[in-house]
Amino acid sequence: MPEPSLHRPLPAAAVESWDHETDVLIIGFGAAGACAAIEAANAGARVTILERNSGSGGASALSGGEIYIGGNGGTDAQRAAGFEDSTEAFETYLKLAGGPCVNDAKCELYAREALDHYVWLKAQGVPYRGNFLPGKLIEPPDDSTLIWSGSEAAAPFCDQAKPAPRGHTIQHTGWGGGRPLVDRLEARARELGAGVRVDTRVLGLIEDGGRIVGAVAKSDGAILHLRATRGVVLATGGFVMNEAMRRKHCPQTFRINDPIGDRDDGAGIMMGIGAGGEAVHMDQFFTTCPWTMPEPQASGVFVNIHGQRFINEDCYHGRVSRCAVDQPGGKVYLLLDSAHFSQPAEFARTDIAATGDSWEEVEAELGMPAGTLAHTMAFYNAHAGEGRDPLFDKRAPILTPLDKAPFVALELNFQTSYFSFFTLGGLKTSVNGEVLGADGDPVKGLFAAGRCTHGLPAWGHGYSSGLSLADCTFFGRQAGKAAAHG
Ligand SMILES: Cc1cc2nc3c(=O)[nH]c(=O)nc-3n(C[C@H](O)[C@H](O)[C@H](O)COP(=O)(O)OP(=O)(O)OC[C@H]3O[C@@H](n4cnc5c(N)ncnc54)[C@H](O)[C@@H]3O)c2cc1C
Repeated sequence: MPEPSLHRPLPAAAVESWDHETDVLIIGFGAAGACAAIEAANAGARVTILERNSGSGGASALSGGEIYIGGNGGTDAQRAAGFEDSTEAFETYLKLAGGPCVNDAKCELYAREALDHYVWLKAQGVPYRGNFLPGKLIEPPDDSTLIWSGSEAAAPFCDQAKPAPRGHTIQHTGWGGGRPLVDRLEARARELGAGVRVDTRVLGLIEDGGRIVGAVAKSDGAILHLRATRGVVLATGGFVMNEAMRRKHCPQTFRINDPIGDRDDGAGIMMGIGAGGEAVHMDQFFTTCPWTMPEPQASGVFVNIHGQRFINEDCYHGRVSRCAVDQPGGKVYLLLDSAHFSQPAEFARTDIAATGDSWEEVEAELGMPAGTLAHTMAFYNAHAGEGRDPLFDKRAPILTPLDKAPFVALELNFQTSYFSFFTLGGLKTSVNGEVLGADGDPVKGLFAAGRCTHGLPAWGHGYSSGLSLADCTFFGRQAGKAAAHG
């Protein structure tokens, strides 16, 4: 019998006997897989989930559990906080966030249905307190459930889409709402009768006459052949932990050092390509260094090694970090005055590179040519005092002069500071989760969702917190429904 392979489906004719039969076979039990399972079961399909770890979770369980939701006049939490979020503004923002990599159809569908999706999440038992916590936060420090989580209030986004906070976090005290989110979705999938096989790693797909009809897996040392009468859903996550794939597709990530996620080895992407699917925007990645912690540091100014600014710093911390990684010299500096400096968060691994009683002294200590950084700060401060940023259009209240000595430059070093990152590129899919080939035609019987696909979080420079889980949960549901209907 031919060996199973991630790169080429096994012909069904080579399967001597099937070990298991189901209607919808879901590979991966993170947020995307769980949501696919719930909807496939709701549609009346028999569902089996295969998970290589000893339990559900994947990267989803490591996450903050924050989901990007808005439109249709706003969620209860948005409206209570005074934000009427129109579908048009929400859709415009989603498309701006996708930038040159945007999938318009996914943005349009999600913009229309996100409010219903929020209601659906609640119906699965996901708790939301429904209150808004203002400020520049990465995750709510308490059990609040709505924060600003993107670049909505910053240029150029705010000029094209009316801003609203849209980061909806599961009610959970402190960081790490991803685990309880997945627990709730897992419980729901099990209640609906989904079968779960953990410690079961899928080694390859099985095809019959051009249609994907199952998968080969290894469990307890045994090789299993599992048949799916209606469809197979890939929900295996991204490829951030696969160095060979990153070297080939996403080499810029080697400028930074902290991949985050579970095992994220790209297996689902490889299986999808092997079955005839196409992977797109594989060079895209999210990154962030938590430079807005403590919060007063959000008012700082970034310069590159030439003492030049490169971004309006009131954008989302991840957009600023992603633009930072484009800068030359392997590092950037966050400039702060004594009114805005406090000890940086330890896990950010950002060190003080220079101090001084004037920006000229800081510039000299950094070894920059005289008049570079000092001129940047003189120009910035003069205009910030008038409430303007002629170069990058940073806005109040983050726009504030940095003129209270002493001054400090924190070094954000791409190799030694904490630049966490994960990949965004993946399989091209329809809004219903069908895996599409280069010709745009679906690969019969094969569906995919989550970070093994290209979806709402499409462009590293436009990423906003919550876009990935919005994509995983919503388009996971779409894939589950479509697979159940064969
Ligand atoms: C620390 C951290 C915080 C984050 N916070 C947020 C946030 O608040 N909001 C947000 O939107 N995004 C966040 N993200 C990103 C987000 O969590 C992920 O992009 C998302 O959870 C991916 O979900 P998924 O279902 O596609 O994959 P996963 O959750 O990784 O699930 C994939 C599953 O497939 C299994 N699997 C893989 N290959 C196989 C195989 N061959 N056979 C069987 N099983 C297999 C894996 O074991 C895994 O359990 C965060 C990420 C991290 C790491």
